[in-house]
Amino acid sequence: MSDCLFCRIARGEIPASKVYEDDEVLAFNDINPVAPVHFLMIPKQHLASLDDAQAGHQALLGKLLLLASKLAKTQGLEQGFRTVINTGRGGGQEVFHLHIHVIGGGNIPPMVKRN
Ligand code: 5GP
Ligand code: ZN
Repeated sequence: MSDCLFCRIARGEIPASKVYEDDEVLAFNDINPVAPVHFLMIPKQHLASLDDAQAGHQALLGKLLLLASKLAKTQGLEQGFRTVINTGRGGGQEVFHLHIHVIGGGNIPPMVKRN
């Protein structure tokens, strides 16, 4: 998936404001933040969505979640944070490279507005 937007960011072909990087994971600030802190975590390996994850991705997915909490703290989210993973068109996913949104700071409204 060489033309995938987030693969290109992972390869450094498109600039991003990096929050964290290692050999498997990249975290960078969302270009259109919905809160004072809003960054995305991606596996560097292309994986379109959670629907494409296999048993072999289990350790990587676990690593991403554990890292979400650590990085939230480094970004000042001591009081907590929201994680969102949109999956597929039915889940509102727009970029088809698996990513975890980490969102916080300011007032976080209820995730689903009820009437
Ligand atoms: P999705 O709706 O797929 O869960 O979220 C995609 C996210 O990627 C959106 O929050 C959007 O603002 C962010 N995004 C889209 N293009 C870029 C980009 O080129 N750079 C960065 N940093 N974020 C992007
Ligand atoms: Zn990709």
